[in-house]
Amino acid sequence: MLHRERLRPPSRDYPADEWNLIEKAFHPEFLAQSETMLALGNGYLGMRGCPEEGGPYAENGTFINGFYETSPIVYGEDAYGFARTGQTICNVTDSKIIKLFVDDEPFWLPNAHLLNYDRRLNMKVGTLDREILWETPAGKQVSITSRRLVSFPNRHVAAISYCVKLLNAQAFVVISSEMAANGTSAHDDGGDPRLARAFLGRVLHPRASYSRDRRIVLCHTTEKSRFTLTCATDNLLESSCSHSYKVMHAADFGQVVFTIEAQPGRQIQFTKYMVYHTSQTASAEELCGRAEWTLDRVVAHGFERLLVAQQQYMGDFWSRSDVRVNDIREDRIKRSTIEIQQAIRFNLFHILQASARAEDTGVAAKGLTGQAYEGHYFWDTEIYLLPFLIYTSPRIARNLLAFRYKMLPQARARAKELGHRGAMFPWRTISGEEASAYYAAGTAQYHINADIMYALRKYVHATGDEAFLRNFGAEMLVETARLWLDLGFYSDAKGGKFCINGVTGPDEYNAVVNNNAYTNLMARENLRYAAEVVGSLRATEPEAYNALVQKTVLEPSEVKAWIRAAENMYVPYDEKLKIIPQDDQFLDREPWDFRNTPASHYPLLLFYHPLNIYRKRVIKQADVVLAMFLLGNVFPAETKKRTFDFYDPLTTGDSSLSSCVEAIIAAEVGDVDKAIRYGMAALLMDLADVGGNVKDGCHIASMGGTWMMLTYGLGGMRDYDGTLSFWPRRAPQDNAILRIPLTYRGRLLEVEIGLDTVEYALREGERLVIRHETEELELTRENPLAVRSVSRL
Ligand code: BGC
Repeated sequence: MLHRERLRPPSRDYPADEWNLIEKAFHPEFLAQSETMLALGNGYLGMRGCPEEGGPYAENGTFINGFYETSPIVYGEDAYGFARTGQTICNVTDSKIIKLFVDDEPFWLPNAHLLNYDRRLNMKVGTLDREILWETPAGKQVSITSRRLVSFPNRHVAAISYCVKLLNAQAFVVISSEMAANGTSAHDDGGDPRLARAFLGRVLHPRASYSRDRRIVLCHTTEKSRFTLTCATDNLLESSCSHSYKVMHAADFGQVVFTIEAQPGRQIQFTKYMVYHTSQTASAEELCGRAEWTLDRVVAHGFERLLVAQQQYMGDFWSRSDVRVNDIREDRIKRSTIEIQQAIRFNLFHILQASARAEDTGVAAKGLTGQAYEGHYFWDTEIYLLPFLIYTSPRIARNLLAFRYKMLPQARARAKELGHRGAMFPWRTISGEEASAYYAAGTAQYHINADIMYALRKYVHATGDEAFLRNFGAEMLVETARLWLDLGFYSDAKGGKFCINGVTGPDEYNAVVNNNAYTNLMARENLRYAAEVVGSLRATEPEAYNALVQKTVLEPSEVKAWIRAAENMYVPYDEKLKIIPQDDQFLDREPWDFRNTPASHYPLLLFYHPLNIYRKRVIKQADVVLAMFLLGNVFPAETKKRTFDFYDPLTTGDSSLSSCVEAIIAAEVGDVDKAIRYGMAALLMDLADVGGNVKDGCHIASMGGTWMMLTYGLGGMRDYDGTLSFWPRRAPQDNAILRIPLTYRGRLLEVEIGLDTVEYALREGERLVIRHETEELELTRENPLAVRSVSRL
């Protein structure tokens, strides 16, 4: 079900532009939204898109991925095994503040008389650029041009080039470059469980603060999680106008103030270099040293070099990842294609910003654009984000899977705590420990274990990285297979089938149910893949097999038991409706009264007690429909159509993870209208603020889902068994040409879906075998191109 009324108009009218998201005026009413949308990040460091001048802002935010503070989770009524320790990403030292005064008048956006305003997220280069012409109350015209970047190649570094010029008069100009720690912390959640809890008092405790010349270093630690952060800036001013400066620093604050006698037409070029280093083990002194080395280097190289490196990084990213749309229709309609192109790039760019340098960390649900969901990592990464990364930036995908491997000790301990064998990955976490305070929609989502293993298999198939599988993947497979075997049982009531009771599937509006179809199907895959990998290691790589046995104390009988459980897995099917029921109870539930639910009462979770929701037939997000996408080869086409038609009207889409999946299955079952409507909702989730909460951060999972919708939905790509196949389908009115680059086993394949034909071009690599519909195609260096006709929906 798609609530048309919930597809809000864009929160701001962004002019159509293929590479930029442009603000043509300062809109105080959209501060929070634009802070999210114009945020910069590199997967390690993120800065919300607040203006340079230190304000105004709705929620100023600078975040380091994985830098969190803990607090005890307090339960009014406690129970055994509840998660004990909350983890919340910290809002760290804000280093980007540059205040400007002309003849002592502050430049403050809300009351400045602006003759020109242009701010743009430049997605081609990876910068946030602003051009302003300000007329002071005394009639002096001041041009202010700035460019901000958070470096991809140097993940600890950010920089701002800030250029001021008086156009028609001379003036005394002051530039105050500042840093502030403990400025703002998360807002109180106001009853919305999706937001972060607020800390009382200071989060960052001062360890060191000093300045040298125009450099300031501030070092802090968190009290309980014992993280240390050093933030350091260097401040350079170049101008032929005479100028002087002074520096001051305090525990939470630093400031370099330049006073300039500005002459008309003469440029004042100010450059600020910002460096962040964090650690849970290194001392404050060491981190300050590291920050200073980094600063020494970037200052010596200069802003231009950072910019060139950023451009190269982005060029490389887009050459592997840019999904292009082109329309051959007349110019009148072309604008919408440009808007779609802009939206696609916006989604892909933010995924990169959330994940590129996430090393030894995961990817938070909001990336580094906001504090909602407390900076936690969920299944969003494996099911929604990893497909894009696997097929465009496999190294990033590997880093994220390696991070899961690193949390295996905690996952083993958690399984033990809950009385299970094997390992149990946390539903939400930063540190590796379960941080979900509501077990019914948290810990009970056991499916995350199978989701991670599903992503592992996709990664191994698409990259051929057998070494990763051997060294890390196999161990995770053994432990997760053990968990499923322990969790399930052979139920007499279900004809001796292997059943898994008391779990929550992806749909959080049906909690703690028996035999959630998604969970059972994904667990079956997990068990099978574990058996296959262990079997193949045993047969072909005795050394690796022995090492695995040593690490996991694996008994050969266990593998047999996994195979047996997989073969006997109970998969619910309703003979009467001929659909897959979501779980054992689902079809018995009273239908939700959609007719009398006002649009203002969505998402339901904010307006109804969980019990009212759980006992009704209503769905938050794609569940069985997601299984039909991920494991599409398991279901006959007619079952998919009937199942989709059954669940679609019951699905509120209260989670942003739903629309993209519904779009893919709608396309597969031939429902063009819904495919387009859901597809647009996913594509515009953040740009059009579909969920009404973009202010709290980008919906990174939906952004990954947008790529899946283009590739799997429109491109008809499938990769169930490791073979890449395509079955592109075109909607009747659709005239756009779509080009999708894919990295597959070290080759670069470009798929171009034209009006009547699809072209498969091998751009890099020797030989690649793929499937078009049911035909096998071989692309080689000599014959790199295959052209086939495209079916219309
Ligand atoms: C969804 C989950 C998701 C989480 C973080 C929730 O609203 O129901 O599936 O993992 O948001 O994005």
